[in-house]
Amino acid sequence: MTDSSAQQERARSERALSTAIATDPRDAAPLGPTQRPKPSFPDPPGLTEHGPARIVSVCNQKGGVGKTTTTINLGAALAEQGRRVLLVDFDPQGALSVGLGKGDPRQLDLTIYNLLMERGVETEEVILETSVEGMDLLPSNIDLSGAEVQLVHEVGREYILGGLLKPVVADYDYIMIDCQPSLGLLTVNALTASQGVLVPLECEYFAMRGVALLMETIEKVQGRLNQELAIDGFLATMYDSRTLHTREVLGRIVDAFGDQVFHTVINRTVRFPDATVVGEPITRFDPSSMGANAYRELAKEVLQRWHLLT
Ligand code: ADP
Ligand code: MG
Repeated sequence: MTDSSAQQERARSERALSTAIATDPRDAAPLGPTQRPKPSFPDPPGLTEHGPARIVSVCNQKGGVGKTTTTINLGAALAEQGRRVLLVDFDPQGALSVGLGKGDPRQLDLTIYNLLMERGVETEEVILETSVEGMDLLPSNIDLSGAEVQLVHEVGREYILGGLLKPVVADYDYIMIDCQPSLGLLTVNALTASQGVLVPLECEYFAMRGVALLMETIEKVQGRLNQELAIDGFLATMYDSRTLHTREVLGRIVDAFGDQVFHTVINRTVRFPDATVVGEPITRFDPSSMGANAYRELAKEVLQRWHLLT
């Protein structure tokens, strides 16, 4: 055997040994719902100072996949961890603003629409406190639906939201933008303002339909407007372990996106719609529920991921 082939042989056997050690079933963490060993995520260290914020868009052009539910509940779970959080309602439906118990958002004097369209309105003036300590809201209402057509004619139209958030970035640790179910100019503004995008996917038939178009949009934004934008992760929502169907859909999501899929999945439970009706995050409405704990677990997982990303 020549020297080099002996070296290769040694390298091969070392690799085989390390693979054998890594895959020893006695060592492996138990498999989670995504069929990967599920690590345990540590409690994040407390913060002594705040900001500047990581801005994250919660985005999927399909409606009803859990964007708003994820924004409010992940936001509340991050606030529980002592993080200062600003939620941005960037959907003219205003579901996040209703969901945070602000009543009818049509009654609000100032919303993100005024901020986008009127000179002299300051971001700080529009921000509202929520019932969750450490979590604020930049509300919207149906007026925002008119903004898109008007913004089309603006110079630097994709950068407007980013510019409006700049004055408050230092005040928060995370700014989460609840996007509308479309890939139009508002969503492009959100992606352009963000360092990360989090994509909820419903564990249902057609979960992947449209995802290619979403990826294309993200890539275009990365290429033309915001090189910094990273995919923070894909979140499986409305999961029901009792049905083969949702298990299969989750399997397909993991096949497509691998380690970009969060280990934490959100189960389907009626507690979310119930919490929506009372306008509270589930972490307050039913603090010990499975849903509340799932978003707490997700908060720990994303904090670890964000820490690795930055
Ligand atoms: P999106 O913002 O993507 O349109 P929502 O977060 O508003 O989606 O969710 C759509 C509906 O599904 C809401 O009524 C919400 O309460 C409900 N929902 C969200 N997540 C879950 C879940 N994990 N289990 C059951 N219902 C859910
Ligand atoms: Mg929504």
